[in-house]
Amino acid sequence: MDDRIKLQQGDITKLQVDAIVNAANSSLMGGGGVDGAIHRAGGKQILEECKQIVNRQGGCKTGNAVITTGGKLPARYVIHTVGPVWNGGKHNEEELLANCYSNSLKIAAGNVIKAIAFPNISTGVYRFPKDKAASIAVKTVDAFLHTNRDMEEVIFICFDDENYGLYKRLLNN
Ligand code: ADP
Repeated sequence: MDDRIKLQQGDITKLQVDAIVNAANSSLMGGGGVDGAIHRAGGKQILEECKQIVNRQGGCKTGNAVITTGGKLPARYVIHTVGPVWNGGKHNEEELLANCYSNSLKIAAGNVIKAIAFPNISTGVYRFPKDKAASIAVKTVDAFLHTNRDMEEVIFICFDDENYGLYKRLLNN
């Protein structure tokens, strides 16, 4: 495993990194879970920029990502990505989740972002099995880092104990 991958437990809105990733929905208009927490903590500037993006391109498709300011957050940017809703596993959910990580990292690389933090995309309201989601996350980030020397730190930030335990096991192997 690439040693630029780090694991932390806590609240993503408190992290002082170049960018945090939001598990958004395709409307980009905010929602519950980590999305709600990020918009609440970051203030209205984030929503303003999301609205401009929606006016330009009409929302964000599942697996894609867009970037805005971090507003009042300690993080400079928020990268909003739309995870798949788990629907039994035969609807391309795994590939779409991997796309969330690779597209977020591509946007990060294009914006000279050196430290980025991901929540466990799709494992809340979208019900993606946590163990599967964690292994896709780790595998996709590790593969990206193999081809990228500029990124300095990728943090998996886990809110709950279960996710933290799953990532810990994966990263120690
Ligand atoms: P989704 O709709 O993609 O499932 P959720 O926000 O419901 O998004 O959940 C995604 C993950 O984010 C869950 O694992 C949840 O525990 C986690 N989460 C919720 N709030 C925070 C937070 N403030 N910081 C980090 N992770 C969070």
